[in-house]
Amino acid sequence: MITRLVEDHAQALAGKGELPAFVYDLAALREHAAEVKTALSGPGAPEIFYAAKANPDVPILRTLDPYVDGIEVASGGELAHVREALPDARLAFGGPGKTDDELRLALELGVERIHVESPYELSRLASILRTTGQEVDILLRLNLAGDRSGVALAMNGPFGMDPDLIESCIDILTTSPQMRLRGIHAHLASGLDASGMVAQSTEILAWGRAWLDRIGHTGPREFNLGGGMAVDYSTPETRFDWKQYGTDVAALAEPGETLRIEPGRSISVYAGWYVTEVLDVKKAHGEWYAVLRGGTMHIRTPVTKQHNQPFDVVNRNGDGPAVAGETVTLVGQLCTPKDVFARAVPTDRVTVGDLVAFSMSGAYAWNISHHDFLMHPKPTFRYLDAP
Ligand SMILES: *Cc1c(COP(=O)(O)O)cnc(C)c1O
Repeated sequence: MITRLVEDHAQALAGKGELPAFVYDLAALREHAAEVKTALSGPGAPEIFYAAKANPDVPILRTLDPYVDGIEVASGGELAHVREALPDARLAFGGPGKTDDELRLALELGVERIHVESPYELSRLASILRTTGQEVDILLRLNLAGDRSGVALAMNGPFGMDPDLIESCIDILTTSPQMRLRGIHAHLASGLDASGMVAQSTEILAWGRAWLDRIGHTGPREFNLGGGMAVDYSTPETRFDWKQYGTDVAALAEPGETLRIEPGRSISVYAGWYVTEVLDVKKAHGEWYAVLRGGTMHIRTPVTKQHNQPFDVVNRNGDGPAVAGETVTLVGQLCTPKDVFARAVPTDRVTVGDLVAFSMSGAYAWNISHHDFLMHPKPTFRYLDAP
């Protein structure tokens, strides 16, 4: 799981006292992104907009840039950040609760598509356009009920508009020619495998085409089918089947339609490691614990998802306390029993001074974490490229 490049670098960081660290293998990221792009390159294949919120670090964005068609941003902050990192990138701006200032910024920075989340947002955008005289292309964000059982996260609730609410957009659009309706956006769930994604895409297309027909929409149409491609932290070698999804979803496209997806986690998660070291090993009430430098204030992922973060132990021949052939719970330095990276996992041997490299740390890791809790030092960040 740990790549040679990352392991060598981790050893060097340990020697310099620079752990914990987020270490990214940009060569691995490039290779993965190229594979995804190849799988999605035939006729009818969807465009790829990387969802920046998964990991907006500049080296990540710049590495992905040649392999994606654009970037999806979900706030004014992300918008300004991505525009600065990638001045020429095509941008789509989504997310609930957009303020007038954010909408104005989107117009100013040349966002290609705004994904409108409510009739009120649509009417505010219309009045901004009336004052500025600008025009903009939009998609309406659809919130379809339907069966999302088995998904990691169903994006129902406040996101987008259900089939009743979306009706209120018709009048606003009719009276606001500066907003050009290009089609429908729907991000309905995350954690779907390829066939689940295809089924969901089919559902979105059927609903969207019928609705656009009914309101008399003419011209080329776009369907943004969302992100949420499955990532399996319990079996990291099982990857989303991009080839199958690419082939099957391309077959759904009709002439005159552009399909688009906006994956985040499934693109960047495999390229990052949170690397740290073992500070203590002990047994309490029959359970073995390894206390690691750092904690879930740097990588909240295992806490939010309630999973064991996959990891490798790199032995460094320390002579401190050790445990061998037992199940061990890996915890951090926080004074809370919730600070757990991985619970009761079988390990060969863990010794004070060993390195622990948590893989699948390239998405929703540092940037979703509560960094300042307990005021421990921040991790260092390394973006490695092949020599
Ligand atoms: C978070 C999000 C995505 C990306 O989801 P992943 O699970 O990271 O692929 C895409 N679109 C929208 C609207 C989102 O909120």
